[in-house]
Amino acid sequence: MVGASLARSLAGCGLHIAVVEAWPLDSDQQPSYDDRAIALAYGTRVILEGMGVWSRLQQDAEPIRHIHVSDRGHFGFARLHSRDQGVDALGYVATGQALGQVLMKGLDDLSGVELICPATLESFAVGSDQVKVELALETGRRTLHGRLLVAADGSRSLVRRRLGIAVREWSYGQTAVIANLTPGKEADGTAYERFTDTGPLAMLPLIGGRYAMVWSLSDEQAEEVMALDDSAFLQRVQERFGYRLGHFSRPGKRSSYALKLMRAEEHVRSRVALIGNAAHAVHPITGQGFNLGIRDVAVLADVIADAHGRGNDIGLMDVLQRYADWRRRDQQAVALMTDGLVRLFTNPLLPLRLVRNLGLVALDLLPPAKRLLSRRFMGLNGRLPRLSRGLSLE
Ligand SMILES: Cc1cc2nc3c(=O)[nH]c(=O)nc-3n(C[C@H](O)[C@H](O)[C@H](O)COP(=O)(O)OP(=O)(O)OC[C@H]3O[C@@H](n4cnc5c(N)ncnc54)[C@H](O)[C@@H]3O)c2cc1C
Repeated sequence: MVGASLARSLAGCGLHIAVVEAWPLDSDQQPSYDDRAIALAYGTRVILEGMGVWSRLQQDAEPIRHIHVSDRGHFGFARLHSRDQGVDALGYVATGQALGQVLMKGLDDLSGVELICPATLESFAVGSDQVKVELALETGRRTLHGRLLVAADGSRSLVRRRLGIAVREWSYGQTAVIANLTPGKEADGTAYERFTDTGPLAMLPLIGGRYAMVWSLSDEQAEEVMALDDSAFLQRVQERFGYRLGHFSRPGKRSSYALKLMRAEEHVRSRVALIGNAAHAVHPITGQGFNLGIRDVAVLADVIADAHGRGNDIGLMDVLQRYADWRRRDQQAVALMTDGLVRLFTNPLLPLRLVRNLGLVALDLLPPAKRLLSRRFMGLNGRLPRLSRGLSLE
């Protein structure tokens, strides 16, 4: 998703871009394009508009008009409303599948973009003025030469491992169980984040009145929940979430993902840049992974278009370092925020429970705190690149 987004952002800038993807486009096995719901921040919408794909995604993206945060069995809760921020929606929810489709469809027809798929990057060699990439295709092998290799190859990035770039990694010992459900009450555009003693449970509104559940549990509990039959599963969800959305029914397919916090120690080397999950992975507690990745895209595209427009070599370290420096603060802030929330809300100690509930009450009552949190959720913090301001790169 992140790699295709970068190619879209730079199409028409006069560059020749090859996008290499291992999974065939019509495959329903592509792990990133499953039923998982992706909460898209308002700032992500602006970037997708700049890429020209928002008008096609809009019909599949449900607006988030309110966010309701609560701590199960305790007094604290907080609400955020889009109208308080002067926007139509705080964010949107689309399935990974819908997002994947609009990003990949027609990619090959864009000016200067070639999609090579299915094809696997097997090896590469970085030289002083170019990088050479070896691909394995169904029909044989192919070699590419370019000024820059962008690794958008996910959290197990082969490019990152081959370069020997170290990662700082922390496993939460938690697994996210996801499933789409039909609520008993009519949805009103509210996204719920409910902290429970077994881990955070998010309910995100989907198009057509369904809700997407993302429930983080200990690895053992997740295994047990995955094995339940549908009615026992619904009963367990109901016990944890309560009845704000009435009685849930018609659970879709369940999937599970091990959760970790990961950050690569270097995001650029000469002629190589890491973006998206290849550079960092966060807990899905506030739905930030893809949003962070697309903000990497907006900044890297800005820096590349700028260097190319001036006739500079886009693979040089001083060009790429601008991208790494620009992105550091936002990436660290989101990692810190998600990690802090996971730790704070999974800690059973009484004083901490009290503090977090007081924190939620304070948040609910203090407009400046709400505004700060909403801006962070909307992806509108810090110095914004052109695509995040709705400006074209051409
Ligand atoms: C349960 C869950 C819920 C989430 N919810 C949200 C949310 O609400 N909001 C949000 O913003 N984010 C969310 N995320 C995070 C989001 O899904 C990821 O951040 C996003 O998918 C990362 O995209 P990516 O393109 O960087 O990596 P990936 O999606 O992993 O894509 C990497 C691509 O590279 C290809 N590839 C890898 N190696 C090679 C190779 N050698 N040759 C060729 N191709 C290769 C793969 O086939 C794949 O297509 C969630 C994640 C999980 C697990």
